[in-house]
Amino acid sequence: MIDLSKYTKELSNLFSSSGNILLISHINPDGDAIGSQLALYHYLKAKDKDVHMLTPNYLQEFLKWMDGVDQIKIFIKERKQCRKLIADADLIVMLDFNQPNRLGEAEEYVKESHAFKVIIDHHLDPGDFADLIISVPSKCSTSELVHELICEINESQFINRSYAEALYVGIVTDTGNFEHGAYSSRTFRIVADLLDTGIEKEKILNLIYNNFSSDRIRLQGYALNKRMVVLPEFKTAYISLSKDDLKEYNHVKGDTEGFVNMPLSIKGIHFAALFIEKDNFIKLSFRSKGCFPSNEFAAQYFSGGGHLNASGGEFFDTLENTIEVFLKALKEYGGRFEDDL
Ligand code: 5GP
Ligand code: MN
Repeated sequence: MIDLSKYTKELSNLFSSSGNILLISHINPDGDAIGSQLALYHYLKAKDKDVHMLTPNYLQEFLKWMDGVDQIKIFIKERKQCRKLIADADLIVMLDFNQPNRLGEAEEYVKESHAFKVIIDHHLDPGDFADLIISVPSKCSTSELVHELICEINESQFINRSYAEALYVGIVTDTGNFEHGAYSSRTFRIVADLLDTGIEKEKILNLIYNNFSSDRIRLQGYALNKRMVVLPEFKTAYISLSKDDLKEYNHVKGDTEGFVNMPLSIKGIHFAALFIEKDNFIKLSFRSKGCFPSNEFAAQYFSGGGHLNASGGEFFDTLENTIEVFLKALKEYGGRFEDDL
């Protein structure tokens, strides 16, 4: 078990001594980014701190119901106001990312800022762009880590329902509702405490998972039926979607979220990839089961990275060429697939 006490004294002092705190989540914020950001916000608000929130770009629909979301400023929507928030902050806490490019357009302003900068995150290999880096890759989510830090500071009395909801969203989404990732018995103990605050778990799960448009569900059907290729010899399956495919199904941001996990439910498939055509590059997502290092694969062939079982990258070529590179890479990597799990 990791000893968080080495961080919490400094963190607690920073919270107490800072007059103007800014919490920043990463570009294309997911449930864990927003969940950990809001949880920390509710905690600091309960302590009467002057605290603001910023995220580089827009939130997906399934997160917009959360308490406090309306207080999150979107950099690309309110640039001037966001630049002022960054310039005025004396403490900046960055949540759920560890590379500066995840700040999007806010990157240069955060780098210029004289605020004390903290990273709280669970991804591997943190970049060196903060004064205090709290990086614990063994945590299933940044949300879990935020909660552990607050408990270690011994301030669980500041936990309220909005805080508990935010943490629950972060933990549930980053583990795929307890299907993957580094969740542990500790995670379930934390979730038990969260449920004890009276949060409505079914309602929250419905808001997260059963909130799709019919176009999105049809795109999912099309992706599986027409655009998935299964390669049993490599224990791999991949899905590719072109811009035309997305247009056909009136795609909106976030619609392909989760698609990459679907091929892993095929018996014998240990590695799944999703290729999405963007304006001038291909967005890649990889997922694996067992010890296949999807992050190493992503780094070696696509300059990407991430976790062992969930990684991604960007490739500046056509969809066709990207798939070709992927297939060649699989041939090289083929021997590394486990026989069974
Ligand atoms: P997703 O497939 O959900 O977009 O990304 C899964 C994980 O892969 C992310 O949490 C992140 O750790 C990593 N990841 C995604 N895209 C990139 C990328 O372009 N570069 C790097 N280094 N990691 C990425
Ligand atoms: Mn996360």
